Amino acid sequence: MPEANETVLEINLGNLAHNYRFLKSKIDPDVKFLSVVKAHAYGSDSVAIAKKLEELGTDYFAVAYVEEGVRLRENGVTTPILVLHPQFTHFEEIIEHCLEPNLYSEKTLNSFISVAEKLNQKNYPVHIKLNTGLNRLGFDQPEISRIKELIWDTSSLKIASVFSHLAASEDWKERDFTVGQIDLFRKMSWELIKDLDYEPLLHICNTSGVINYPKAAFSMVRTGIGLYGYGNDKTIDPHLKPIGKLKTIISQIRPLDQGDTVGYNRAHKIEKPSRIATLPVGHADGINRIYGKKKAGVLVKGKFAPIVGNVCMDIIMIDVTGIACEEGDEVIIFGGDQHPVEFAESGGTISYELITGIQRRVTRKIIPEKVENQ
Ligand SMILES: *Cc1c(COP(=O)(O)O)cnc(C)c1O
Repeated sequence: MPEANETVLEINLGNLAHNYRFLKSKIDPDVKFLSVVKAHAYGSDSVAIAKKLEELGTDYFAVAYVEEGVRLRENGVTTPILVLHPQFTHFEEIIEHCLEPNLYSEKTLNSFISVAEKLNQKNYPVHIKLNTGLNRLGFDQPEISRIKELIWDTSSLKIASVFSHLAASEDWKERDFTVGQIDLFRKMSWELIKDLDYEPLLHICNTSGVINYPKAAFSMVRTGIGLYGYGNDKTIDPHLKPIGKLKTIISQIRPLDQGDTVGYNRAHKIEKPSRIATLPVGHADGINRIYGKKKAGVLVKGKFAPIVGNVCMDIIMIDVTGIACEEGDEVIIFGGDQHPVEFAESGGTISYELITGIQRRVTRKIIPEKVENQ
């Protein structure tokens, strides 16, 4: 194997632990904590993150697709795993790997029951999703009696939890709507579980739910983005620590004069004598074209250097005029003193899209949590 790529996403497990403890401090100690580790743990490394979260005491994991859960099981993760968006074709695999499906429609419920019965399952844990206004996945209120009939008729399943998802928990302007979703969830979940002789977990809060509506934590919360260091709010962000830092090095520096142009389509025109540096990272790594033409910049020796011209597939160019730097020097694209939210905003997007968009070509480097007194 060649040496790791020079463009590296460092993943700081100490920051993850900090964020976990911060989010836990917002809810009662007896409320269970589900950690969302879908999409490679928001673009980082799902196995390393899940192992650390197990050590920290998370009660549950969620992934989006079955394959993501299988990967965790194959790497020794033993905590229960909820699969948020399982496909019909993967129901046998779900059972084989002890994953727990979200059943969100009559069709998914029926089809999972037949697979569970065929495989002679008893009380297999499943999660029922209710639609309270996001209108994405979930049963609507009039379907609750039908869920009950189907579940009563089989001994193959047990409802491990009933849940719903908020549409705008980070947005105070939508407070009434969110409170309405929470009330509807309370009613619908009660209607569903009131005749059971066991008590499923109930959960509706994502990260911004935990922060803005902690009284609606019910018996579990489901947090993703907060664990990775983002609070969806300028007043919360300072309490959290982004776990990812995207770094690279300068490949080449070229002095250019007035009238020269830089990169494809000659998109950057030099107006005064300048030093332009080339970096080994491009839109194929997740630094999209939108960040070019000085929309965003990077940090070199702690100083801001704008991205000039068009972002190429494997390369970006930055203006380092006036910055004392050399070929081979380190460059921080985001993380550390360059907050990833500001970088994302300069490209007109949000933290979620920036961090999950960093491609697998970028080497992931795990920075372990420092152990005190050692
Ligand atoms: C992704 C996801 C979450 C996590 O949301 P955050 O805003 O990242 O905390 C929770 N629940 C569901 C259903 C999701 O799809």
